[in-house]
Amino acid sequence: MSEQGAPTYVGLIGWPVAHSRSPAMHNAAFRALGLNWHYLLLPVVPEDVGDAVRGIRALRFAGCNVTVPHKQAVVPFLDEVSPTARAIGAVNTILNRDGRLMGENTDAEGFLRALREAGFEPRGQQALVIGAGGAARAVVYALLRAGANVWLTNRTQARAIALAEAMQGVGHTPPRLVPFARQAVQTTLETVSLLVNATSVGMVPHTEAVPLPEGVRLPAHLTVNDLVYTPRQTRLLRLTADAGARPVDGVGMLLHQGAAAFEQWTGHPAPLDVMRAALEDALRHS
Ligand code: NAP
Repeated sequence: MSEQGAPTYVGLIGWPVAHSRSPAMHNAAFRALGLNWHYLLLPVVPEDVGDAVRGIRALRFAGCNVTVPHKQAVVPFLDEVSPTARAIGAVNTILNRDGRLMGENTDAEGFLRALREAGFEPRGQQALVIGAGGAARAVVYALLRAGANVWLTNRTQARAIALAEAMQGVGHTPPRLVPFARQAVQTTLETVSLLVNATSVGMVPHTEAVPLPEGVRLPAHLTVNDLVYTPRQTRLLRLTADAGARPVDGVGMLLHQGAAAFEQWTGHPAPLDVMRAALEDALRHS
């Protein structure tokens, strides 16, 4: 319920949030559709998460995005959490449905839409995911649900084990663990068709870092999706192109997780071209 003609607000809860390109992407989309909607940055320190989530209801926001470090912390303050968000263990989108706050996760959907848009259909494919944090959980869930066979490696093996255990029953086979070591990763790369970097390795300011163990070579048959999008052309993606393999950058997932949230909030199809142009422009100017 909102006042006749009154603006509608959504925003991003996180700490910090100043670097986010989401306002540029969503506000361009609202303008393109002639909606009197506004996307705000909402910096929230960890001790204030509960008050911030309750504020969505009190201030009649249509919803919010949630980012680091609050994706799990918001859960106790929501009325409902979708099966997808529960399985991933993180909420990145909140919907305010007449005062009921629903937690959703659009990262998995965004990842899949971007991968398919890049021409890779994961059904029946073998994929190696590096990482065991929030992004890796969304990616592993998405790949398993889409019918891929998933291999998983991470610097800290205990976290990979915990992720694999959390994903039991999501796909027809659970993720298989690969030690984070040169020979084991190399052997796996010879058999998979997709490699996903779901670690933060290669992000600014450490742009010369590569998430693979030292000495691993990229086979030419691979598609390599790096979720890192600052910089857009990571060193991993440059090595991919040099090896004759297919690079896919992280901007597609960022766009499509936003588009999925936009659609859930507004009920309108997301104007993808407008959102992509605004996002690319914001990334170029940061
Ligand atoms: P996170 O929960 O903090 O997880 C970080 C992951 O990176 C862990 O697996 C960690 O391994 C690994 N890692 C960090 N430093 C490392 C190092 N020096 N060597 C080896 N592994 C290292 O982060 P997240 O939220 O999952 O995000 C991961 C990345 O994905 C970030 O760059 C983020 O920007 C990106 N992302 C992109 C999108 C998109 O839309 N494109 C969406 C979400 C996230 P340990 O377990 O060993 O610490």
